This record gives sequence, structure tokens and C-alpha cells, in this order.
Amino acid sequence: MQFRDLKAQYQALKPEIDKGIQDVLDSAGFILGKPVAELETQLAAYTGRKHCVTCASGTDALQLALMAMDVGSGDAVFTSDFTYFASAGTASILGAEAVLVDIDTRTFNLSPDALEAAVQRVLAEGRLTPKVIVPVDLFGLPADYERILPIAGKYGLKVLEDGAQGFGGSMNSKRVCSFGDMSATSFFPAKPLGCFGDGGAVFLDDDTLDQRLRSLRVQGKSPEDKYDNREIGINSRLDTIQAAILLPKLKAFAAYELDAVNHVADRYTELLAGTVVTPYVPPGFRSSWAQYTIMLADNAERTRVQAALQKHGIPSMIYYPRGLHQQKAYSGLHLPDAWYPNTLHAVQTVLSLPLHPYLTDAEIDRISGIIIETIRG
Ligand SMILES: *Cc1c(COP(=O)(O)O)cnc(C)c1O
Repeated sequence: MQFRDLKAQYQALKPEIDKGIQDVLDSAGFILGKPVAELETQLAAYTGRKHCVTCASGTDALQLALMAMDVGSGDAVFTSDFTYFASAGTASILGAEAVLVDIDTRTFNLSPDALEAAVQRVLAEGRLTPKVIVPVDLFGLPADYERILPIAGKYGLKVLEDGAQGFGGSMNSKRVCSFGDMSATSFFPAKPLGCFGDGGAVFLDDDTLDQRLRSLRVQGKSPEDKYDNREIGINSRLDTIQAAILLPKLKAFAAYELDAVNHVADRYTELLAGTVVTPYVPPGFRSSWAQYTIMLADNAERTRVQAALQKHGIPSMIYYPRGLHQQKAYSGLHLPDAWYPNTLHAVQTVLSLPLHPYLTDAEIDRISGIIIETIRG
């Protein structure tokens, strides 16, 4: 069994994807060819944003957005302690300081209370200028924007949504990648909407910043002249071949794949509720289920469940085994464990189960059955 069955997905869409790739080969428009512009238009429409600027990865999307927000040395960028490294690393590489914030125990997302406390702590210290909040839509569930956006407004901070795992999710019918000033997503193959390599995109409504991002992804060039460089940029474009792959994949995602993963999640929850802590989806929220993540009683129970699944050839993953404040790369920040009780609980107990649009009911039942038998005996 596959954790995320990318081969089954390719087989389902093979004729359209193969034709898209062949058309790019025939046109030889490998860099910023027509499918890239077409995809940007469709992605902007899907998310409800005015602009979409694609680039080479989700990490680059975050970095480009922070560059367009003029983030640099002396700035504080607030993000979740329980996330993939890029949510924080992109601020650090620009010379800013990542301020890591504890999570909510039920949603695994940035805790608004801990966020406001962290902003006040940074202001009281006076060493850094609070600049941007990077809420993460972890495992597919949108962060608590109803509480985070007012905090940003109160302290004059910008909001950059890390929607790398959340593409397709929504809150009160507003889609992921439409929250805050800008949003970033990733098309890494295992993400909710993945391509066949690396890819990413920034979403925003501001016309001036849209132009600036298009320049920043090509070495800060002027709109008219590629060799007239107005500022320091990077080289980060989405390959035309990846755009051609994403066009039919976006169609399938919107038509049935997002519904299919929600069916998988609902079935898991129906079977597993009462035996383990199943994912919490607050009223009005919809997840795109980048991961289906349960919580076990403790690390020992998790080890037992993982071993039982493995014995039956079923893969499971620990996202994530440590908080960012525990990463060696951030040891210089000297962040005390005592600030992160909820992250520390999560890293001991979480387990992500196989989930993709082509997982069958029989497979879900089998996986759930093994978990229930292991715990209840
Ligand atoms: C995957 C991911 C990224 C980075 O995306 P890449 O395309 O792998 O560079 C950023 N943030 C989160 C939360 C992610 O899961």
C-alpha cells in the first residue's frame, strides 16, 4: 500500500497529462510558456485572488512573498512551531528572525493567544520590529484567520498565508490562498495539488506587488528589459511542463479529488472516533487533507500502532517528530521548551495515515481495523 498513491493518480489522468507534456515539447516554450499564464489565470480564479504568480517551489513562493514585503534584518516574522521547516526558514534566510509560536492542541494550527503573547514579548524586548505573521494551514486545515487577522490589524503586521498543505481547503466558503495580504502554496508531488517535480505559487490582490513578484522571480528585471535589473531578485519560475501537468490535475482536483479525500477522512473518523483522537475540523471549515493525522495516548502507544501497521505493509508517518524550536538550525535562538507545551505533546503523539483520492473503502476499513485491534486488544 502507498502512503499517497501518485501512480494511481497519473494512470487516471494519463492521456491528458501526456498530451500536455508533448505539446510543450513540440512548442519548445519551456520557460514561461503559454500553459504557465493559463494556469495562473485558473489558479487565481479558483482561490478567489486577483493575481497568481507561479514559481519554482513552495519555499520560493514564501521567500518571494517575504521579499515583496521588504522583510529583512531586524524584522520579526511570526510562525507556527509545528510545521515544515520552510515556514520559518524563508524568513531566516532573508536575515529576519523567525519567532516560533505554540499551536492549538485541537487544530495543530498557530494558537492566536500564543501569537498575541509573542508579539507583545517582541515589542517589550524592543530588539526586533514585528513585521509579518505566517499562519500555516497545517495538514490541509485553514488556520484561525478570524482571530489572527484582527491581531495583525491591531499591531500593524502583514499576513502571509502558508497554504502549502491547504490548497483546496476553505473557511466559510472562502478558499485557502485567499487569506491575508499574500498567500503561498506548493505543488510538490505529495501536496493536495501536486505536479511531477517542484513548483509553487504566490497569490495576492495588489497590482503593484504582482508586478514586483514577476520581476523578483527573474532577478529583479524591469518589465520591459530582461537585462535592466532594478533590484536583487532570484531565478524561480514554474517550468512550462509542470504547468501543463497541473492544468488537467487542477481540473480533476476541483471536479472530484478534493471530494474523494474528504470521503476518505470522513470514513476514517467514523471508524476511529472513540479509539484515538481524530482530526478536529471546526464548524464552517473544510480541510483539503494534506494529511489525516490522529493522536495516540502517548509515544509508546504510537510506536505499537505504527509497528502493527507496518507488519501489515501499511505505511504511516510522523509529521512532525520535533518542533522547529528543537531544530539544531534554531538552537541559537535559545527557545525554552516551556513556551511550547502543545507542540511538545503533538510531537509525542501524532501519526499520519495513508490518504489519497484513490484509497478504497476496503483499505480504509483494514487500516482502521488494525489500529482499533492494536489499541483495544
Ligand atoms: C511543503 C511545504 C512548504 C515548502 O514547499 P516546497 O514546494 O517543498 O518548497 C512550505 N510550507 C509547508 C507548510 C509545507 O508543507
